[in-house]
Amino acid sequence: MSLDQDQQLHSGCHDKTTLCLDSSDSCELAKHPLQGLKLASHKVLERAQQTGRLRCSKCGGSRMFFCYTCCSLVGVSIQEIPNIKLPVKIDIIKHPNETDGKSTAIHAKILAPSDATIYTYPCIPEYEKDKVVLVFPGSEAVSVKDIQRCLGDRRKMKLHDHLEEPHPKRLKIEEVEGGTQAAKNPEAEATDEKSKVFPLQRVVFIDSTWNQTNKIITDERLQGLLQVELKTRKTCFWRHQKDKPDTYLSTIEAIYYFLLEFHQSFLVQEYNGEYDNLLFFYSYLHSVINKAKTSAAKCRGQL
Ligand SMILES: [Zn+2]
Repeated sequence: MSLDQDQQLHSGCHDKTTLCLDSSDSCELAKHPLQGLKLASHKVLERAQQTGRLRCSKCGGSRMFFCYTCCSLVGVSIQEIPNIKLPVKIDIIKHPNETDGKSTAIHAKILAPSDATIYTYPCIPEYEKDKVVLVFPGSEAVSVKDIQRCLGDRRKMKLHDHLEEPHPKRLKIEEVEGGTQAAKNPEAEATDEKSKVFPLQRVVFIDSTWNQTNKIITDERLQGLLQVELKTRKTCFWRHQKDKPDTYLSTIEAIYYFLLEFHQSFLVQEYNGEYDNLLFFYSYLHSVINKAKTSAAKCRGQL
């Protein structure tokens, strides 16, 4: 794949969840974030790249690896690429003006098909405010490790609001709520055992430019969702704009880093690269671009 072809695949710098993050954290991982990942072999992508672009069997578009319009593979088979199981469902909301070919959101849908869903704004679901969070660095955003506590608080609020309304079970709930340890009383939250253990059911990401993100974020259906921001991760996105800090993440990076923090915060077993393959295409394209840049610099005698 030439650099030119890749530009068609991922041209421009519009693929960003545009997370404006604190740049004070300068961990080692941030310097070389794509090194040390546990990735499936890229041989299949090398082979497909040598074959070159092919027609998508559904829409006829000229594509490499996958069709971003049809969300289907092109030139590689499903058995040849990783299939990742995520610990929580992922929804990605993309702006209709966003060119599909520029987005890395499709990587998540192709690599974790049973857990990732892409919606095109304004067609988005109604979300339950005590079970769903939105990854966005708003002024009241909390860190990943605070999700459980904050959603727990929301459940308590919901239970409390419930009390304010006339309800046949009012007396019973009041009895529970009247105890000093009401929130910890198992009866109080026994209705949904699973969400009591861990309330988070779904994480929403926005895949669009910064201006478009602001339009989506003010949609009333997303108002009141708990906003979560990620710790600093420097982007490897190969086209980040000069005037944007390198802590702006592409959508697939944001999803990956969210899951990494989520795993480290809440799951008992140590992280062992379970979601690294979300960056399967991303890391490959990143290395192709870097090689192209290096050889171009050599041609100009700069190296
Ligand atoms: Zn297609």
